[in-house]
Amino acid sequence: MAVYDVIVLGSGPAGLTAAIYATRANLKTLVIAGQIAGGQLMLTTDVENYPGFPSGILGPELMELWRKQAERFDAQFVDDNATKIALRQNPFKVWVEQDVYEGRSLVVTTGAMAKYLGLPNEERLKGKGVSACATCDGFFFKNLDVVVVGGGDTAMEESLYLAKLCKTVTIVHRRDQFRASKIMQDRVFATKNTKVIWDHTVTDVLGDKKVEGVRIQHVKTGATQDLKVQGLFIAIGHEPATDLLRGQIDIDARGYIVLHPTPEFHTATSLPGVFAAGDVHDHRYRQAVTAAGYGCMAALDAERWLQGQPH
Ligand code: NAP
Repeated sequence: MAVYDVIVLGSGPAGLTAAIYATRANLKTLVIAGQIAGGQLMLTTDVENYPGFPSGILGPELMELWRKQAERFDAQFVDDNATKIALRQNPFKVWVEQDVYEGRSLVVTTGAMAKYLGLPNEERLKGKGVSACATCDGFFFKNLDVVVVGGGDTAMEESLYLAKLCKTVTIVHRRDQFRASKIMQDRVFATKNTKVIWDHTVTDVLGDKKVEGVRIQHVKTGATQDLKVQGLFIAIGHEPATDLLRGQIDIDARGYIVLHPTPEFHTATSLPGVFAAGDVHDHRYRQAVTAAGYGCMAALDAERWLQGQPH
């Protein structure tokens, strides 16, 4: 069996950028792309903040171009999910069902998925007013009214960002207090066009072709009401895709990979030869352009690390 120099797990901005850099460095590279290849941008519509596209570009179109670029340099792809990973010995082993692949280094770019509420009409209206990223989509709600769901720091951050663009922001939270840091809460409370509806859950998002309202319900009385808004921003946390790595590299309590940067290798994980890039470790910035930057760094790190290993 051929041993790859680099196996990239994931095919979002971080993974495909890692693949481009690795293959251009003449490293034999395999991308285990996942069943939903392309990552979170496959779930968005217009991307207006990715540099180089002055008129914007559709998320899936951007990822198609990105992949073509990686394929041009002969990165090989498996369009399926990894099902098992063994990192105890080098070469590392990655299984996709019965097939096993070996790699001298591994770049983990499996990302994190925003959590959604599971509302009856949520899926249908995603990208049509339902979003989980204010930085990505806030601009489309200029001077409009929006609801933000959640009570953590992400919800505060999203609300503050949206308050600068939107006419009004209504935070709907299921309890009577936020879990967000005090300083973030205070900023939200001090924002004039933002109000909070406590003790309510969102039970559905309304609208035919785009969001026209949000139905909420009081958690104690059960009373429902409809809010007339054009956007629903869900900010209830993210779920990093690290299940297969648990117990093998350092992962924090929320499931994110913990980087162990050294002066030489900024994207190093706790295990030599395993690097991580993008939202799978970065819960702070979560942008396509930052993930791409990390992907580039991880490939350069893997290349340099391999140079120091016996072949
Ligand atoms: P989080 O702290 O886990 O908060 C999630 C919020 O969503 C909670 O208020 C929770 O309600 C609510 N929620 C969860 N599931 C829900 C559901 N099904 N329906 C309605 N509400 C639901 O997540 P996060 O805000 O993404 O933050 C994650 C971590 O990143 C935190 O440690 C945070 O401090 C950090 N962070 C920091 C910054 C910053 O420092 N600027 C920015 C963003 C994130 P309950 O409160 O009732 O559980």
